[in-house]
Amino acid sequence: MAWSFFCSSAICPQHQVNVTFGCKNSLQNVKNLIKSIGIRSKSCSPNESLRKGNWVKLICGASFEDVVDIRNLSLVYTLAGVDCIDCAADPSVVSAVNEGIETAREIVPIRRPWVMISVNDDEDLHFRKAEFDPKNCPSDCSRPCEIVCPANAIFFERETATVEVPFGTNRTGESKMQGGVMTERCYGCGRCFPVCPYDKIREVTYVRDAMAAAELLKMKDVDAVEIHTSGRQTHLFGELWDELRDAIRYLRLVAVSLPDNGDATISSMNEMYAIMEPHLSCFNLWQLDGRPMSGDIGRGATRESIAFAVRLAASRERPPGFLQLAGGTNAHTVDGLKKRGLFQTHITSGAPKQLHSLIGGIAYGGYARKIVGRVLSSMHSQHGLTSIEHHPEHLLEALKEALYLVGTVKSYNPVVTQQ
Ligand code: SF4
Ligand code: SF4
Repeated sequence: MAWSFFCSSAICPQHQVNVTFGCKNSLQNVKNLIKSIGIRSKSCSPNESLRKGNWVKLICGASFEDVVDIRNLSLVYTLAGVDCIDCAADPSVVSAVNEGIETAREIVPIRRPWVMISVNDDEDLHFRKAEFDPKNCPSDCSRPCEIVCPANAIFFERETATVEVPFGTNRTGESKMQGGVMTERCYGCGRCFPVCPYDKIREVTYVRDAMAAAELLKMKDVDAVEIHTSGRQTHLFGELWDELRDAIRYLRLVAVSLPDNGDATISSMNEMYAIMEPHLSCFNLWQLDGRPMSGDIGRGATRESIAFAVRLAASRERPPGFLQLAGGTNAHTVDGLKKRGLFQTHITSGAPKQLHSLIGGIAYGGYARKIVGRVLSSMHSQHGLTSIEHHPEHLLEALKEALYLVGTVKSYNPVVTQQ
């Protein structure tokens, strides 16, 4: 029986290759799929991907700390051939990412993606959590917060107190809500804040400890750092850079993630580059954060990131460094870049003159987690919290989703499968 490569996205590819699948519970199917697409032969080093314009980064989330999901996501996207995995600057999260990567490489000896940790120089949307006490929630609330949360980070349980009555039958007392926000799953998207009709949800912001992050950067399984900044107060950027700079020499890449500040953007990028430049012994990249944490919302979410890229790509005053899109990126981003003539458009620059891509690549966060997260949720509801390689049928399904997304940038051939 032949069946088509399943993908949940609306865009469908044109050229196809055939794969034969055997027993559905076999890791051999995963190996066959990767072999048929030829990912190993197409993979180049992450810095080469930046030059070619087919760099793909998985964003686990600067605040997302669910180590079970992070390990499984890292495993799936490593097999799909991403160049980098960006995660919270937390030792247990970094170790979960690396465990996922190494398990993937035991299944197929694929090249290792870089591991990046994220820090911030000031308050930032990516570094916050939601918090509320469910005991304060009215019992008749329809719980829109739970429905709107894309991370399934909000849960409720009703606890019914039993009142002991002497010499009689115990009475069931009033029930109270338990639960709330699972801190490790909340990544600060903010969608629950405006939907609460009783204004019960608080926003808790934090700044990552720079000294602890610097220690993490010296570890051999961390390759890159990303500094989130508003770009409006470069002295804060400078202070953070001073705390990190001794660790920069251990890295392969420094990324700066910033929003579009209109006319002030290029000048603040130049100020930040001047701060970094004396200690920059590796590649640098500008992450253009169009519409933060919105890629899973729909097609239109990617427009701001593309508009940001169009403006920066056209500027002759911008400082050196690769450009990479983020914030609202999803399965429609490559199409949007193609329409603007920016997808893998090569230019020559530098001395000696080198050919490289105007846009280095794309980072996917919420959308990438959503398409694979659906498979992970289904696996967890059937088998409990578990490692995805123990359930090859789920791994295969998750990998097809990931391949489809990564393949839009890497130009993988889609697959027709046969049993
Ligand atoms: S901020 Fe976002 S991820 Fe966190 S609980 Fe609210 S809706 Fe969920
Ligand atoms: S919407 Fe507000 S009041 Fe209702 S359950 Fe959620 S936090 Fe509580």
